[in-house]
Amino acid sequence: QINPFNKPTEIDKQLLDGVISQGDRVVDATCGNGHDTEYLANRVGDQGLVYAFDIQKQALETTWKRLQQEGLHERVRLLNKGHEKLIEDVEGPVSCVMFNLGYLPGSDKKVVTEPQNTIRAIEGALSLLKAGGLLTIVLYPGHETGMIESQVVQDYLMRLDQTKFHTKKIISLNFKNNPPYLMAVLKNK
Ligand code: SAM
Repeated sequence: QINPFNKPTEIDKQLLDGVISQGDRVVDATCGNGHDTEYLANRVGDQGLVYAFDIQKQALETTWKRLQQEGLHERVRLLNKGHEKLIEDVEGPVSCVMFNLGYLPGSDKKVVTEPQNTIRAIEGALSLLKAGGLLTIVLYPGHETGMIESQVVQDYLMRLDQTKFHTKKIISLNFKNNPPYLMAVLKNK
């Protein structure tokens, strides 16, 4: 069930529940502390495969520990690599790609996703997505780079060909301090 009043990091999973099947290949483009990777690994089952990218070793280590504790590590391929290069490693078609932009929670916030890399990654992700597949992006306009990145991503998604893709934005209108929000892209069947 999809509740648009939940947090964006919950709504993305509610949307994906209806898209991911057991045995699918899927991508976590920003694995961070591994919450999304863990969710994806549970959804694809033991015959599925999750590709999870992050440029910070600390993030991959935290994620690996989390997956091992849950017995999910065998269905995940962790890549210490920028998501802008994801097409080099991911074998498509994939049923979903998750992006959760910004910085690693609990870190020094110096390493953040960069607009140019994010767009390159989205471009690659859309080319790998199967028909009926979904790309989700949680954006953080509350900090300066995040605000710029959110606008760049929106401009890019607004220009996608509507005969091929359907894009959505789910945002709280009256919250202070530019809270996070969600964008999603469905690849048409
Ligand atoms: N999805 C994560 C979770 O569930 O815990 C949270 C992700 S966190 C908000 C954003 C992550 O993106 C950080 O860990 C950061 O290192 C990573 N990142 C920054 N630039 C990246 C890039 N070019 N490619 C892949 N990951 C990147």
